[in-house]
Amino acid sequence: MRLLFEKSIPGRKSAYLPPCDVPQAELPEALRRKIPLGLPELSEGDVARHYSALEMRTFGVNDGFYPLGSCTMKYNPAINETVAALPGFADIHPLAGDRHTQGMLEAIHLAERYFCELSGMDAMSFQPSAGAQGELLGMMLIKKYHEDRGDAARRNVFIPDSAHGTNPATVGMCGWKVVNLPSNAEGRIDVEKLRALAGPETAGIMLTNPNTLGIFEKDVVEVTKIVHEAGGLCYYDGANLNPIAGVAKPGEMGFDCVHLNLHKTFSTPHGGGGPGSGPVGCKAFLAQYLPGLRPQKIAGGYEARATRAARSLHLFHGNALVYLRALVYVATLGADGLLEMSSQATLNANYLMKRLRERFEIVNKGRCMHEFVITMEKEAKKGVSAKDMAKAFLDNGMMAPTMYFPLIVKEALMVEPTETEGKETLDEVADTFIRLYDALLADPESARDYPRNTVIGRPDEVEAARNPRLRYLG
Ligand SMILES: *Cc1c(COP(=O)(O)O)cnc(C)c1O
Repeated sequence: MRLLFEKSIPGRKSAYLPPCDVPQAELPEALRRKIPLGLPELSEGDVARHYSALEMRTFGVNDGFYPLGSCTMKYNPAINETVAALPGFADIHPLAGDRHTQGMLEAIHLAERYFCELSGMDAMSFQPSAGAQGELLGMMLIKKYHEDRGDAARRNVFIPDSAHGTNPATVGMCGWKVVNLPSNAEGRIDVEKLRALAGPETAGIMLTNPNTLGIFEKDVVEVTKIVHEAGGLCYYDGANLNPIAGVAKPGEMGFDCVHLNLHKTFSTPHGGGGPGSGPVGCKAFLAQYLPGLRPQKIAGGYEARATRAARSLHLFHGNALVYLRALVYVATLGADGLLEMSSQATLNANYLMKRLRERFEIVNKGRCMHEFVITMEKEAKKGVSAKDMAKAFLDNGMMAPTMYFPLIVKEALMVEPTETEGKETLDEVADTFIRLYDALLADPESARDYPRNTVIGRPDEVEAARNPRLRYLG
């Protein structure tokens, strides 16, 4: 595909302005550019076709099934976009005063109330732009808490071996030490092991529940109690809230601090490195450490008040239009709708898991929550790896599941259908899984050929990640 610059035709235009009817003013010589700007010259139609062609090369939730486990790629309802595009929200200047931004401040205040209610927290900051940034803020709150109490010897943070890689990375960035918590045979935290390890050096624990195997940590109250009794605090990684939103609250499980992935559970667009939102909620005793501006209700309106924390993670109020979409989503569903959402997410995952058990080895022994994990360990020995399977999906109208995660499962494929898929889609997808499985195992040589119909086939992924050569090859 040619670049806009290569398609450029000198003199072609896409703006048609009436002839100038006022005296032309010349720019001072010093301000004039010495070399031409070099923008492509094209008609509006040429540009529209170019971007439509690019759009057709991508794949998103509006194109087909997108079962990216742990990442919750769900449909983003159009009403979210309509509200976020209202000029009263979309066109606010970040420096506009409170008097001119009352509606936005009210929305942020309402978002704080709703998401605190859902997570069982007392206060929330919407500054973090992603889950990973939320984790960092959350752990910094915990660190500040220990420091202010003169308890600086606490340096160890428990993280289960099934955790997302951002958890240990966050602990590392705080200058703390990760203490790995092994899972037991059921894929849950080994509580006795935790009890034996907790002590005066325990700073806290980072946990997601359900964990990344899609299994609910049923001993979670005991887990948080053990950490608290040792003097540590409990951090909840909220990326897996989809099956429990409206059902259970991290605050009631004993967590002191959470981040929510609004771009996962709460339907806002997600992917491609675009803006996200990972707000951090905490119990009242940590609220003094939250950064940035937080709208407060005052007589006759709202006021954006700076908190006492010295540092900020993000300018102003964070990615406001992202969490505004999440607020619209929650307000549209209401409490009953959220309960239906999480129940349906769990039902869909269990339905698909049951159908796939016909062929695949599934790590979850009993029922799962919103996602489940397949292992292709046996098949890999016959020449068909999880990666081969994943690549074959790309030619069949769907996105691949998450591959090779969680790390404790060999040849993992992690499948999360989400609640917005209907039964017909789930059946069609199950048929595709089984058909491709049979085809690849019947002819393992052919497994290396996929995908055949995408723009890029199989890049050298290690080379692409470690040594990217970001240039255009024509
Ligand atoms: C996605 C995810 C994160 C990180 O969130 P980002 O918004 O991608 O930074 C953390 N933990 C888990 C379990 C996740 O799935």
